Amino acid sequence: MKTVLVTGGAGFIGSSLCRHLIAATDCRVVNFDLLTYAANPASLAPIEGDPRYAFVRGDIRDAEAVAAVFERYRPDAVVHLAAESHVDRSIAGPLAFVETNVLGTGVLLDQATRHRDRLPAEARDGFRFVHVSTDEVFGSLGSDGAFHEETRYDPSSPYSASKAASDHLAAAWWRTYGLGTIVTNCSNNYGPCQFPEKLIPLMILNALEGRPLPVYGDGGQVRDWLHVEDHAAALARVLEAGEPGSRYAIGGNAERTNLAVVHAICDTLDRLRPDGAGRRGLVSFVADRPGHDRRYAIDATRIGRDLGWRPARSFEDGLAATIAWYLDNRAWWEPLRRSVYKGERLGLLAAA
Ligand code: NAD
Repeated sequence: MKTVLVTGGAGFIGSSLCRHLIAATDCRVVNFDLLTYAANPASLAPIEGDPRYAFVRGDIRDAEAVAAVFERYRPDAVVHLAAESHVDRSIAGPLAFVETNVLGTGVLLDQATRHRDRLPAEARDGFRFVHVSTDEVFGSLGSDGAFHEETRYDPSSPYSASKAASDHLAAAWWRTYGLGTIVTNCSNNYGPCQFPEKLIPLMILNALEGRPLPVYGDGGQVRDWLHVEDHAAALARVLEAGEPGSRYAIGGNAERTNLAVVHAICDTLDRLRPDGAGRRGLVSFVADRPGHDRRYAIDATRIGRDLGWRPARSFEDGLAATIAWYLDNRAWWEPLRRSVYKGERLGLLAAA
């Protein structure tokens, strides 16, 4: 039985990955997470108490704490998701992103290498370090084309620049130390258990409550969307069969403008909760985000061809299921949302 150390496993994608690994594989999962504002232990309720699952609270920037978790659990692989992940926050406070995403990844790679070197010779080559990253590291596309494994890096925000730096660290650890790193660059995720500062849950909950729906600029920015459970399945495939020292672009083949996404949410909620119908009228255009990339798209040919992965659901089905999940799981999001609106969590959302 393999042991997988997941960092950031109490966040949106990490919790989906932990649930997936427990449900769909026979791995042991060790979740190492600092429990920042973005974490919600409630997302792990379905696997809490499972004998193959363990949680350790700790900081990836803390070399001693990271060394202790490697020593105690002796993992065969790491899937690294712990990060500061919200672009707006990176504009308001960039240094936290440099510390967690760059320094934290460096500490983790260093400790993973020390751990790998202590493994028996026959286990060393099989050790894997999957570094989970974003398509935002590639900057903005024009009206056609798509990001792929060879696309040049050109990040625009402090968030994407910090992720770009960490991708380079992961690649360098392969070339310099032979650590079995694999970088994944995925498009925007959506689905259950996403912190309500991100576009889709923010819009669902504002629309539900009849609040304004703040849309940056003209709303014409294009993003590719992937359901989080499809991303978790892709990461599990990369962990199982990905080629060390390489990267995989992961996407949902579902490009939509932000405004189209917001309209789809309004229309679905109008159908499900007709009492507040006419929600498109809540859209309120606000000043564009500085450095806002215009278009992202992913060419996911490699992971489809080499690892046989493709998304299991369409964007429309996934979005409808996500809206239904937020309607049914008020207890998950209500406490987070209350504190956002008290201004404890994010000043930028005060206008929402
Ligand atoms: P998230 O903000 O929901 O979760 C991040 C998790 O990391 C939280 O549980 C938090 O407590 C933990 N964390 C933060 N700092 C830490 C530290 N110093 N030590 C230990 N744990 C720490 O993020 P997410 O949306 O789930 O994204 C996970 C990863 O996937 C990130 O690396 C992100 O860059 C990447 N990614 C996200 C998306 C997306 O659309 N959300 C798309 C592609 C890639």
